[in-house]
Amino acid sequence: MTKLEQYTLDLFNKPIRECTDQELYKVLLDLVRDSSQDLPTHEDKRKLYYFSAEFLIGKLLSNNLLNLGIYDEVNDELIANGKNIMDIEQAEFEPSLGNGGLGRLAACFVDSITTLGLNGDGVGLNYHFGLFKQVFKENQQHAIKDPWITGDDWLIKSSKTYDVPFKDFTLTSTLYDIDVLGYNQNKRNRLRLFDLDSVNADIIEDGTIHFDKTNILENLTLFLYPDDSDHEGELLRIYQQYFMVSNGAQLIIDEAIEKGSNLHDLADYAVIQINDTHPAFVIPEMIRLLTGRGIDFDEAVEIVQSMTAFTNHTILAEALEKWPINALEDVIPEIVEIIRQLDARKKAEFPGNTAVEIIDVHGNVHMANIAIHYGFSVNGVAALHSDILKAETLKDFYEIYPEKFSNKTNGITFRRWIMDANKELADYLDNLIGTEWRNNENLESLLDFQNDIEVIEKLRAIKFNNKLRLKKHLQDTMGVEINEHSIIDVQIKRLHEYKRQQMNAMYVIYKYFDIKAGNIPATPITILFGGKAANAYTIARDIIHLILTLSELIANDPEVSPHLQVVMVENYNVAHAQYLIPAADISEQISLASKEASGTGNMKFMLNGALTLGTMDGANVEIHGLVGDENIYTFGQSSEYVINLYNTGGYNSNAFYQRDTIKPIIDFIVSDEMLALGDSTRLNRLYNDIISKDWFMALLDLEDYIETKEKMLAEYEDHTAWTQKTIVNIAKAGFFSSDRTINQYNEEIWHLTPHKN
Ligand SMILES: *Cc1c(COP(=O)(O)O)cnc(C)c1O
Repeated sequence: MTKLEQYTLDLFNKPIRECTDQELYKVLLDLVRDSSQDLPTHEDKRKLYYFSAEFLIGKLLSNNLLNLGIYDEVNDELIANGKNIMDIEQAEFEPSLGNGGLGRLAACFVDSITTLGLNGDGVGLNYHFGLFKQVFKENQQHAIKDPWITGDDWLIKSSKTYDVPFKDFTLTSTLYDIDVLGYNQNKRNRLRLFDLDSVNADIIEDGTIHFDKTNILENLTLFLYPDDSDHEGELLRIYQQYFMVSNGAQLIIDEAIEKGSNLHDLADYAVIQINDTHPAFVIPEMIRLLTGRGIDFDEAVEIVQSMTAFTNHTILAEALEKWPINALEDVIPEIVEIIRQLDARKKAEFPGNTAVEIIDVHGNVHMANIAIHYGFSVNGVAALHSDILKAETLKDFYEIYPEKFSNKTNGITFRRWIMDANKELADYLDNLIGTEWRNNENLESLLDFQNDIEVIEKLRAIKFNNKLRLKKHLQDTMGVEINEHSIIDVQIKRLHEYKRQQMNAMYVIYKYFDIKAGNIPATPITILFGGKAANAYTIARDIIHLILTLSELIANDPEVSPHLQVVMVENYNVAHAQYLIPAADISEQISLASKEASGTGNMKFMLNGALTLGTMDGANVEIHGLVGDENIYTFGQSSEYVINLYNTGGYNSNAFYQRDTIKPIIDFIVSDEMLALGDSTRLNRLYNDIISKDWFMALLDLEDYIETKEKMLAEYEDHTAWTQKTIVNIAKAGFFSSDRTINQYNEEIWHLTPHKN
């Protein structure tokens, strides 16, 4: 009897063939969890703790089967019994423990850390509800809660608990682990997610995401990022952040002492990577814990300084996280006392340099400034981003500590983003260039096949199959029909003005006019959007409304709908991404230059054979450098130009609006046709914002964007030349493996000894 048969029999007392997909999900969950638990954790002295408020891990079943090396074996057995993994995985709930890129990066990183044989855990919180579930009603976004802890999930309760002291009470944590498996590795790491037993989902008002924000005992780990636009929300966020880092710091000390540390040598045992500013309180907390164990303050500062590194993800100086010191006083007064001392030292060292103060004159505590002064490393996440940090955002710090700064261009794990998401392409690459790319992500020898007609045809056939797979997925999840013979143009990412979904919507209007005027596209076009807007971010929700209203208008227009379709995918998440990206021809990466730190979506599309339509922003710049001008479609003003426009206040959207090429497009937003379907308040607000402000300068680049996209669509018609370009993109994507990124972090920051099998 096979292991799978045995597990099925034990759990449901019947053969595989007679089980439902739901039952088989439980069987596979048990089987995979047991197999993971059989793998030992690392026993090395030195260990990395990757602190992050978000881990957007996605569904784990097929990924874990793949990493355990039993995917094919299990899938074959299921198929022989009339089942398949794709259907079974529908029963798994996706934990949405992240917003977007930053959380997904953390998930790719823990996969790579484990795959590279490094001793490193992720540390975070066990939110009972991730980011809200997005539903569309009347062409608007609504937010409902998104449960994922069902009992049939990947959490494993551990026996570790810690006391976390707040001003008015002390809370005792519970630790849950999720095993992190590397690709064909014989050791596992873990996500360490702290939680509180008293948290109670019943305090959420029915059908909403609202709850009593003052009831810390019952709400602490209820939601990822509760709305902090009011004072109670702000306090709750502080409770969450301190709960995360205090538990994490106690875990570090515990594990180090167990391995023989006397705490004076703690930095030999542990290195902390702070992913963005949310975990920066780990610095004062670690100082508190060490001084509480008899180490004097100066030495504690030194120890913590030598073991803490910081990753910055923000460009806008005004978007860097800060907390009012009074709010901190209400929650964590002991930590405030330590922060005051840390601040006083730096004020004495750099008198009058207000840009590097931890506590500013308004009484705000700057989280990044704690991490930069009192850590040993600061990195940006793409070459351009790191340069902008040095020249603009963190200029004053760079002058003081040039040696701390470095770049670590982001990456994506190839396990999830090609082996799992695009199995047909991955298997075909094996045939062409051998399987070694699965271990070293080197796909360059694919370039040898650029002129091979058979290869070109096969790649086109794979793309078509992925379009069919997406079509079925959208039918099943949304009841929407797309045309598998159309060009698939995809913009999926958080809704934000700087990412400029509005500019793509303006293109839709342009194209609608063009088709109405009789210019029928050679190939039909499907433009897919996906992304959530923060619920309090009004303009972003207005942009969603614009897209959904356009989608309806076009679907109802028989003149246009055979040639142009617009779909906004509901509740964009990792699972949707795994269907959308392999099917895409065009990857929309159209942020205003200088605003996107890196992007990782751009890398996933490139690897899956889509061509980038993008500005010279974030990692697009590096994609351009790798594939060359002929294999990417760039447009728009440069980051220098944009930064200068901001510095001089030289942008006037109304002047662009007045152009004959632009005015009809913008006016259409508030046309009778649109107002007949849409919400007048939302459409008028958006229209007025664009013509009077347009803070992220969509109109600045609109003409160039339309022209470049039209050129791209025309060039798609030469299928051979197009596919040759996609070959170059796939072949050059190896640089964007998160294994490369993690190797750099390790060699330059962490200094752990790898153990490969
Ligand atoms: C990769 C990914 C992101 C990040 O996309 P960007 O285009 O880099 O902003 C966001 N959400 C999900 C679900 C992802 O998989």
